[in-house]
Amino acid sequence: MTRSADMHVLLTGRTGADERDAWLRALREAAPSLTWWSDNDGDVPRELITAAVVANPAPAALAGMPNLRLVQSLWAGVEGLLADGTPPAQVPLARMDDPAMSASMAETALWAVLSLHRRFFDYAAHQAALDWRQLAQRRAGDVGVLVLGLGRLGGAVAMRLAAQGYRVSGWRATPADRAGPAGIAVQAGPAALAGLLAASDIVVNLLPLTPATRGLLDARFFAALPEGASVINLARGAHLVDEDLLAALDSGHLDRAVLDVFHTEPLPPEHPYWTHPRVTVLPHVAALTDHRSAARVVVANLHALRDGAPLAHLVDRARGY
Ligand code: NDP
Repeated sequence: MTRSADMHVLLTGRTGADERDAWLRALREAAPSLTWWSDNDGDVPRELITAAVVANPAPAALAGMPNLRLVQSLWAGVEGLLADGTPPAQVPLARMDDPAMSASMAETALWAVLSLHRRFFDYAAHQAALDWRQLAQRRAGDVGVLVLGLGRLGGAVAMRLAAQGYRVSGWRATPADRAGPAGIAVQAGPAALAGLLAASDIVVNLLPLTPATRGLLDARFFAALPEGASVINLARGAHLVDEDLLAALDSGHLDRAVLDVFHTEPLPPEHPYWTHPRVTVLPHVAALTDHRSAARVVVANLHALRDGAPLAHLVDRARGY
């Protein structure tokens, strides 16, 4: 077993200097006995690095590290890492699974669902037009919410919405041979999707971005929703076909969209989403990383590596998430 003082860990990524320094501070505080290196150190002893902690690393950032035994992502979504092949194929890749992030995501989803259900976006528009108008009010239990993806984030969202009284169903990839979150009606696989959509007033997307889910939210998907439904995308911009969403909104088939993620970020100033009266734009803030909490998650995995214990949150590269 390698002693912790012997473990050299590299923090690498194309983040700003402030972000890098915030991570280093949090990681050093969580594991002072490990030897930490970062891109800021000119003389990283690459042959000694046993683990790399990465956030959007440069393509060659992990080359020439013969002792590398773990690549730990600071991000929950790892589609970029899988696409550019930065983590060597034989080295385990772990993703971020931070309880603080799941809690933030559940808050954002709850705000968006509640605002749609209780028409608070409409009331904000009415206020801008000095328009005093009372709209019909539904009970939470009469509102069907479908959560796409019941993983770390989607699972937390589904439970939070169910606790708030919504009629929540969930969709995932693998057949329901294991229990889903309590109180959530779970279905799996492509054949189940149309039926779930037909019964949903609001859809919350929390799928990972994979070849099977890229562009899933398209014209056919929107057509399967009942008239007046709304869409909340908190996962990745490339899940959504923008022109199809705009067409479904402009035809009146869909009521509203709440979007946190986009094909190009920052969202370009000329993009129609910015000024669309029934689109709410957030600047990818649905669940920001909590450095202290995430550092503890990272360090738990580094200690598992050191101790020869099972690694957590490993990515299944064949599956893509
Ligand atoms: P997980 O990997 O934990 O969960 C993925 C879920 O999606 C699983 O339930 C899985 O099914 C399901 N799934 C995967 N592929 C399919 C498919 N083809 N059909 C149906 N279901 C499928 O992901 P997370 O919860 O960690 O992340 C969800 C998303 O949130 C990601 O896109 C991530 O990038 C994004 N994200 C967004 C942030 C933001 O601030 N906006 C912040 C952090 C993450 P099964 O259970 O059967 O495996």
